[in-house]
Amino acid sequence: DVTATKGNDFEDYYLKRELLMGIFEMGFEKPSPIQEEAIPVALAGRDILARAKNGTGKTAAYLIPVLERVDPKRNSIQALVLVPTRELALQTAHVCKQLGKRIDQLQVMSSTGGTSLRDDILRLYNPVHILVATPGRVLDLAERGVCKLNECKMVVLDEADKLLSMEFTSVLERLIERFLPTNRQLMLFSATFPITVKAFRDRFQRKPYELNLMDELTLKGVTQYYAYVEENKKVACLNAIFSKLQINQSIIFCNSVNRVKLLAKKITELGYSCFYVHARMAQEDRNRVFHDFRNGACRNLVCSDLFTRGIDIQAVNVVINFDFPKNSETYLHRVGRSGRFGHRGLAISMITHDDRLNLYKIEQELATEIAPFPAHVDKSLY
Ligand code: ADP
Ligand code: MG
Repeated sequence: DVTATKGNDFEDYYLKRELLMGIFEMGFEKPSPIQEEAIPVALAGRDILARAKNGTGKTAAYLIPVLERVDPKRNSIQALVLVPTRELALQTAHVCKQLGKRIDQLQVMSSTGGTSLRDDILRLYNPVHILVATPGRVLDLAERGVCKLNECKMVVLDEADKLLSMEFTSVLERLIERFLPTNRQLMLFSATFPITVKAFRDRFQRKPYELNLMDELTLKGVTQYYAYVEENKKVACLNAIFSKLQINQSIIFCNSVNRVKLLAKKITELGYSCFYVHARMAQEDRNRVFHDFRNGACRNLVCSDLFTRGIDIQAVNVVINFDFPKNSETYLHRVGRSGRFGHRGLAISMITHDDRLNLYKIEQELATEIAPFPAHVDKSLY
């Protein structure tokens, strides 16, 4: 299940009706973040270099624009989707057929090594509009003159990092330089961004729209509370929170290294298990603590802001700002969840008198709601 952040709808892209029906029949209700970013740009015909985690909906992000821009009345291959493996080609072609199943006369073909070349050649006597394939087989078919790509205006490299590894690079270069039109739209989707991808971009893409959704943070699914408390009552407040909530794992943020160490000691004295990690620890030690915490060796972790990138631990259902952060970016990095969807959690911020204005400011800047900590918190929220 993929969720959106900006609230766009598939209707907003003015897609043809048959395509919209296909999308809804797949059960997609709203575009995922990568789809929100990529679809309008791809529809405009621009080159794209997109980086996003697995499972974020990349396939539809390029297939929807491809399906929109292909004209089934023309008898030519108009889009080529390249993937590194046979399984992925089959799967992608299947998704393409499903999304496009209401589009009249649309023909999607998959073609990969390890299958009968003769069958592919015979198939190509009949119309094909979208070809999903591994690079070697397409090149072979193109060199034999049976696969004509001169009207192919869209090219997608899915899993570009894998496609551009050693075995494929020269094949891809030949394919693009000899058989594809120069004014094609080239879209690259990749989870990592190795030097090979950069080299390819610089050589073949024209001012690509670059999008990076690798560490996208969202407050969706996070219920946010604040608790007014005097500085010297914070530990007591934390104790109350601990006894009130069913914490699976928690991360507790302080604003300085000294406070991290002090608080960790206090929490242990209260009788709760606790690790801590801060900026003045050796990287090696930090990694070890982080690793052990992730493995569930301990329920609570006290830390300073160095930890912010690692918050994507699924078992953490409560984040506590023992000290309130100074700005909204830090707040978002502390309590926001990255990538994967659907996991709920609580964020509780201790607010002293001095933090009041900041609380208001951060709430405004992030366009979010931070409510007073209630007497009872429903377990379904975390
Ligand atoms: P990626 O290529 O980024 O790893 P996929 O394109 O394979 O991800 O999509 C992952 C899953 O999410 C698939 O099961 C797909 O059907 C589903 N999915 C994609 N887009 C949406 C959407 N807008 N709404 C609901 N589910 C979606
Ligand atoms: Mg994919």
